[in-house]
Amino acid sequence: MEILKGAEVSARMKEQVLDAMKQYEGDPPMLAIVRVGEKPDDLSYERGAMKKMESFGFRARSYAFPEGIPDAEFRNAFQAINADPGVAGILVLLPLPKQIDSSAVAAMIDPKKDLDGISPVNMAKVFAGDASGYAPCTAEAVVEVLKAYEIPISGRRAVIVGRSLVVGKPLSMLLLKENATVTVCHTRTVDLPAVCRQAEILVAAAGKARLLDGSYVGDGAVVIDVGIHVDADGKLCGDVDFESVRERASMATPVPGGVGTVTTAVLAKHLARAAGVLTE
Ligand code: NAP
Repeated sequence: MEILKGAEVSARMKEQVLDAMKQYEGDPPMLAIVRVGEKPDDLSYERGAMKKMESFGFRARSYAFPEGIPDAEFRNAFQAINADPGVAGILVLLPLPKQIDSSAVAAMIDPKKDLDGISPVNMAKVFAGDASGYAPCTAEAVVEVLKAYEIPISGRRAVIVGRSLVVGKPLSMLLLKENATVTVCHTRTVDLPAVCRQAEILVAAAGKARLLDGSYVGDGAVVIDVGIHVDADGKLCGDVDFESVRERASMATPVPGGVGTVTTAVLAKHLARAAGVLTE
């Protein structure tokens, strides 16, 4: 089984952006990372995203707010970030605490700065197959991995386990745009292993540690693991039982070192587009 390495995909994307930056005049584009509270997952994602932006030649600034900030106060502050001409792109770390109306925030964000595709405008564009908007970075990262490794998508049977608004649903649209035949699974899917075994491209985005073992994988399938978990031994793992799929899959992404690395590279690429460094 070939291991699909996120770092290689990310490095190629970086090369493309750094190349385009040579023609770009002006200050490096800035990403605003909006965080409410101090959740360890958010802090770790923020650190990773900031490092990645710097490595792509960009700037990133964290706008952190206290966990208990009232909705109106947060939205006022958010509007100021949204309107700041010095901010080229915005990433809101989700979920927001429950006193904040997340859908109102998603509706407020300037679609041209909405790098993780949370605004209804960008969601509609993903649904319509219109590439001028921003798809959620994780969903797009899956397609970037497939394309970087020249894995054919057109005409192939793709099965996605998970139907969330951030991963499963937008990814189903992106794969449809690439002419895959797409099946989306969820907790009510009957005989999930049998459905998954039909997949030529199997994407695990269920949020359940090591849910998919070798019995879910058809011979020669390409397995992409979106999940990120810390197991009982404190080790990072995905939604796929990596060791158990080795005998069946032809290719698979590891965790760590797979889709996660590409997700922040997609974020950087989106920032490059938002700032006009890249046109596509
Ligand atoms: P989510 O909102 O919890 O959605 C999980 C989806 O999986 C739901 O649609 C759920 O079905 C389905 N599901 C859960 N258990 C299942 C089961 N046993 N059988 C079949 N379907 C099942 O999760 P998410 O936000 O999409 O994230 C998915 C995973 O990706 C998580 O591990 C998360 O940490 C990771 N993630 C990674 C990145 C990255 O950069 N790599 C970014 C975002 C998220 P129902 O709809 O029926 O409940």
